[in-house]
Amino acid sequence: MRSPRVEENARKVSPEATASVRSATAAVTLARQNALPAYFKDVDRATAHAAAIKDYVLDNLGSLLEQLEGNCQANGIQVHWAQHAASANKIIGDICARSAPGGIVVKAKSMATEEIHLNHSLEAAGFEVVETDLGEYVVQIDHDRPSHIVAPIIHKNRREIAKSFEREGLGPYTEVPEELAMQARARLREKFQSAEIGISGVNFAVAESGRLVLLENEGNNRLSTTAPQVHIAVMGIEKVLPREGDLPLFLRLLAGSATGQKLGSYVHFISGPRRPDEIDGPRDVHLVLLDNGRTQVMAGKYKEILRCIRCGACQNVCPVYREASGHAYGHVYAGPIGAVLAPALEGVEKLGDLAKASTLCGACQEACPVQIPIPRMLLELRDDAYRAGVIHEGIPWGAFAFAASSSWRWRAGLKMLPVASTAPNPLKKGWTDSRAMPSRVGRSFRRWWNERS
Ligand code: SF4
Repeated sequence: MRSPRVEENARKVSPEATASVRSATAAVTLARQNALPAYFKDVDRATAHAAAIKDYVLDNLGSLLEQLEGNCQANGIQVHWAQHAASANKIIGDICARSAPGGIVVKAKSMATEEIHLNHSLEAAGFEVVETDLGEYVVQIDHDRPSHIVAPIIHKNRREIAKSFEREGLGPYTEVPEELAMQARARLREKFQSAEIGISGVNFAVAESGRLVLLENEGNNRLSTTAPQVHIAVMGIEKVLPREGDLPLFLRLLAGSATGQKLGSYVHFISGPRRPDEIDGPRDVHLVLLDNGRTQVMAGKYKEILRCIRCGACQNVCPVYREASGHAYGHVYAGPIGAVLAPALEGVEKLGDLAKASTLCGACQEACPVQIPIPRMLLELRDDAYRAGVIHEGIPWGAFAFAASSSWRWRAGLKMLPVASTAPNPLKKGWTDSRAMPSRVGRSFRRWWNERS
């Protein structure tokens, strides 16, 4: 399969979308920078501790998952193991078919379900699937794709959302956020009341207690997981945490890094289905544990990418993501996390090109609450992709390597530079479309150095 061309895709992104992404990522980055030092005495120590816990999880994943399975079952949660996207879709489809053939499925936001393209699979099986996260709902009615892990419509502005709601008959045109929210609320409320099945992701699952933990800001997770008779939670296997005592650190780090909040507006602890003495809650709770390439990643040199808690901070600070927007990556996981995770999960041959979508400035690693060394991994991926024939050295780099590997060629090249930089050069096209080519001034470094000593 042809690997995605991030530069090519980025050129198709509208200036309006770029402006929305730039302003939203800048605002949330500022919020994160203010929030974390206010919530942690020593942010570096907290993130190092979180990284160590995640490494412990990855080193002991098999036993922790068995412990989680046992404790979930003791709580009445039915646990299913899915090796691939297809098996996850089949498991979920079968549960839905047994519970409510052709019924309504309400869905809370979940990257794991995006990863396996669950909506398409359920719709093909005759279910009505309704996204209930406000951003995901807009994506659904616009037949669009999410472009950010936390904020799926970061590429849209209020005017576009207002037009979509008017088109779908949610209410009269308005750009007032509260009114837009009320329009969506009224439409989604009907769906919550008639849905037989609710599907959610999982932020953390605690092995020692068998509890599933979900964070959100809109309240749609709560309705999706409690109003329907059946709740299906879909979780990447790396989301397990060993102890309840690990939760305060991770809940704070996730909320602070994702949105600059002290804690999500709602934190749900799901300990199983409705008990006999309880009047509400689902009759059945299922947990689908998704591998989909993760065990293979664990065995290789990109293992640390599985520390990721999906906060989106690396996307917000990445200069390439800010300019190109998430759609340019052509994958559900965009930005620095996607540039490593996507090829690690699906193969360098297929997605190795994504590793080029970085300036290697290091901002992603600095922002990451679990200290993932993303720039180092991107360099390794570039090397892997080059060896696999997926990315190639361009002519300028080949010329640079030729010149730089011999001192006389390098010196001769420097002498030619003033002439070369003024000559028409087809290689400069693209670069000079939007900026002036800098002209050389003063002495060369080598000459300056020699004169100095
Ligand atoms: S790689 Fe780090 S910063 Fe990026 S989404 Fe994952 S946890 Fe957040």
